[in-house]
Amino acid sequence: MSKPRIAFLGLGIMGGGMARRLLVNGFPLTVFNRNAEKSKPFAAEGARVSGSPREAAAQADAIISMVADDVASRSLWLGENGALAAAKPGAVCVECSTVSVNWVRELAIAATQKKCELLDAPVTGSKNQAAAGELNFLVGGSTSTLEKVRPVLAAMSKTITLIGPSSSGALLKLINNFICGVQVAALAEAMAMIERGGLDRAKALDVLTNGAPGSPLVKAVAARMTAPDFTPNFPLRLMAKDLGYAIQEGGKLSVELATAAAALGDFQKGIAAGHGEKDIAAVVEPFRKQ
Ligand code: NAP
Repeated sequence: MSKPRIAFLGLGIMGGGMARRLLVNGFPLTVFNRNAEKSKPFAAEGARVSGSPREAAAQADAIISMVADDVASRSLWLGENGALAAAKPGAVCVECSTVSVNWVRELAIAATQKKCELLDAPVTGSKNQAAAGELNFLVGGSTSTLEKVRPVLAAMSKTITLIGPSSSGALLKLINNFICGVQVAALAEAMAMIERGGLDRAKALDVLTNGAPGSPLVKAVAARMTAPDFTPNFPLRLMAKDLGYAIQEGGKLSVELATAAAALGDFQKGIAAGHGEKDIAAVVEPFRKQ
C-alpha cells in the first residue's frame, strides 16, 4: 500500500527534526515554513517545498503543524492561504504545537466544516528526541482518526497515547509543561542560592539531582545551567507561552496555578533580560546577576 502524502508546516527546532523523520521513513513530503530559508535543506533531501500552507495541503492525506503558538497555528490553518482552504475532504489534520485548549476546540470545528478530522497531538521530548524519532505523542481525538495516521506518528515517536476526546492532548500537554516550568524556575532560584551561599556547586548538585528533586528535566537543565550552555533545545520564550496558556486554562477550571504564575514571573524576567531566544536554562541568568 502506498504511503500517505504528508504536508508538514513549521520547520523550527522541533518541526525540522520531525519532518526529517518522515523523509527518512519514505513518506512523500511537502513542507512549508514562514521563513523560506529553513525549507531549503529539505528540498535537497527530497521534500517538495511550498510557498503557502494552502499549496502544501492541497494534495495531502495528512497535514501536520508544529509551530510556536496559537497565533502561528491560526495563521497556518485558517485564512485564504491557510491549509484548510485547500485540504481534501477526509484529510487528517494533526496539530502538534503546544497551543491553548480554546484554539484547539476552534480548530476542530473549522476542520470538521471542511470535512477533515483533527487530532491535537502535542509532544513531550525535545530537540534530540524529535531528531531521533523518539517523541511521545499526547493525542486528543477519536480512535478511528488516530488509526488513520498511526504509522505517520510512529515514524516520529517512541509512544503514542490516546488521552481522550478532542482537546484532551492539548490540556494534558499544558499540565505537563506547567509542572516542567515550575521545576526549572525552582532550579534557577536554587542554583542562585547554592552559588551565593558559597556551597561547592558540584557537590550540591550531585546531592540534589541524585535525590528526590532530581527529575530527568532537573538533571538535564542543571547541567546546562552549570556549563553554561544555553543553545536552545527549548526556547525560553516558549516556556513562558506555555505557562500563560496553562494559567488561563487553570482559571477556566477554577484552579489557581499560583506556582505557575510565580514561575512565569521568573521566565518573564529572563525574557526582559534578553534571554528569550536561549534555552530555558538561561532563566537562571538574572538570578546570578542581581
Ligand atoms: P522554534 O524553533 O522557535 O520554531 C517555531 C516555528 O513556528 C518556526 O517554524 C516558525 O517559523 C514558526 N512560527 C512562529 N511564529 C509564526 C507565525 N506567526 N506564523 C507562521 N509561523 C510561525 O520552536 P520549537 O522549539 O520548534 O517549538 C515548536 C512547538 O513545539 C511550540 O509550540 C513548542 O511549545 C512545542 N514544543 C517544543 C519543545 C522543545 O523542546 N523545543 C518540546 C515540546 C513541544 P519561522 O522559522 O518563520 O520563524
